[in-house]
Amino acid sequence: MSWLSSVRNALSFVVPTTKETPDNLWHKCKGCGAMIFTKEWEENLSVCPTCDHHGRIGPAARFEQLLDAGSAEILTPPKAAEDPLKFRDSKRYADRLKAARTETGEQDAFVNARGRIHDRRVVIGVQDFAFMGGSMGQAVGEAFVQGVEAAIADRAPYVVFTASGGARMQEGILSLMQMPRSTVAIQMLHDAGLPYIVVLTDPTSGGVMAAYAMLGDIHIAEPRATLAFTGRRVIESTIREKLPEDFQTSEYYLEHGLIDMVVHRKDLRDQLATVIGYLCGERKAA
Ligand SMILES: [Zn+2]
Repeated sequence: MSWLSSVRNALSFVVPTTKETPDNLWHKCKGCGAMIFTKEWEENLSVCPTCDHHGRIGPAARFEQLLDAGSAEILTPPKAAEDPLKFRDSKRYADRLKAARTETGEQDAFVNARGRIHDRRVVIGVQDFAFMGGSMGQAVGEAFVQGVEAAIADRAPYVVFTASGGARMQEGILSLMQMPRSTVAIQMLHDAGLPYIVVLTDPTSGGVMAAYAMLGDIHIAEPRATLAFTGRRVIESTIREKLPEDFQTSEYYLEHGLIDMVVHRKDLRDQLATVIGYLCGERKAA
């Protein structure tokens, strides 16, 4: 054995053979295509430092970014009937659910947490687009009601982050029934004298847009989010007109009076605290 081989053999015990550079070291921005260190991307709240594109984030990152350190209490997802129609398209719905659960680590597409923002009590519900396109089925409706009930119990505002392709087709009419259901839940909040604040994130559309996404007391949107009831092509072919380029963006909605403000993710926590302060100021003092 040459001296080189013996050194190499000796080294093989101390140098791990596993891959040292994980595949997710870099993040490619969907806005401008720039390659950014994943660590830098996450430290910048998943917003591109070059073009300001706001990436899609799930419940865990959202709670982490918004709530006072150590104040978050994630609510256990409520039980909902699974696959009530025994639905199958190219795959079984039950298998799609299983895959989404493995991929996201969530039970379904909507997660609630109690916590505080600048020491103001709040219940936050976050819809996860990564879970079957954030689609609204019975579990999402159930979680929405859970969030409302938690807010009423805590005498706190309910803040919901929407991100959805719409109703969950695999649950048919049962998914559409979540529209009136969430509307009644919002009325319960109003009856309790509590504010309901919506933060529209990219993308929010379909049945969710037609239900709880547009029923807020205050509507905030993240910059350049796609917000729509139905797609551009469908509208254009129905009304036989060309739509403006920026149609169905946060900025267009703001300009046309459909929402109250467009807020950069880095300012969201402070802005929410201000809005909650305006709406519940006297409760904090009490
Ligand atoms: Zn970018």
